Amino acid sequence: MVYKIQFKKFSFALTRKLRTSQGYIKEKQGWLVCLKNKYRDYGWGEIAPFTFTELQQCESYLEKISNKPTRQELEDGIKIWPNALSFGVGAALAEIDSEIGHKTIEGWLPPPDSAVLISSIDSSKKEVNLLKSQYKKNPLTIKIKVALQAFEKEKDLINEILNLLPLNSHIRLDANGGWNRLEAGKWMNFLKEEPRLEWLEQPLSVDDPEGLLNLSKKIHVALDESLINDPSLRDSWKDWQIRRPLLEGDPRFLLADLKQGIGYKMISTAFETGIGRRWINHLSALQQIGPTPTAPGLAPGWCPHGPLFSLNPEIVWNAA
Ligand SMILES: [Mg+2]
Repeated sequence: MVYKIQFKKFSFALTRKLRTSQGYIKEKQGWLVCLKNKYRDYGWGEIAPFTFTELQQCESYLEKISNKPTRQELEDGIKIWPNALSFGVGAALAEIDSEIGHKTIEGWLPPPDSAVLISSIDSSKKEVNLLKSQYKKNPLTIKIKVALQAFEKEKDLINEILNLLPLNSHIRLDANGGWNRLEAGKWMNFLKEEPRLEWLEQPLSVDDPEGLLNLSKKIHVALDESLINDPSLRDSWKDWQIRRPLLEGDPRFLLADLKQGIGYKMISTAFETGIGRRWINHLSALQQIGPTPTAPGLAPGWCPHGPLFSLNPEIVWNAA
């Protein structure tokens, strides 16, 4: 089968500056993908890398893709391209094949409530009080960045938050690899009986896989940076995984895993246009009906409003 493929550049500014393990991000840039077959079926995708290096790599591969590629050329490319490009084309193929999308029985599913990122541990009490009034009936899931101050100080702050949090809420602590084994052990002892704790996120550095594995035998450990560093952990790590589909390559594998009911995968945004957001929403919804439902990380309020964020791909395409 021969397809017609088009790419269109987009960019947008985030409403806030985002700190990631790889530096600060203020703007997202990339390309939208429009794939068409001879029956006039459409598949849409989005290529939206986080780093400038991957953006440049994607650009040089895009120049080499013919505008009338065969199925084989696209499938072969997906295996060697940068992850963001493989996502974009894999997503468009999945949609045109009706593995996902409006031609399936379920259609595009809407997402469950997102977890809320508390902006800093020091302001967390104020923020949690505000959130409690907004989430009266629904369970509230909060995520707090830790490993920025001394253990005793952060422990006292987290203790105060736990006293404030309703019993049906959930809390995640993200250390971004910032603890050593001794500190991680102290946190484990402090929180191992706490039913509202969902996990310690990347408690130890990516350089200590053995320490992470040992810790995960005593308390739930979610891997984030480790999965970027060593993607083979996506198959071997049985505890929680933070998954950002748009940065991981061909999404058909994660889609299949979630459809099969494989648990312990939390879906997280990488700040996408409406075309990518349909995937994040749908995968989060599949996660939610699986064996280990948990709130996705959708970063509400970080993307601006407008047609680029519509869930109708044609509107997104015309707005780019
Ligand atoms: Mg993280």
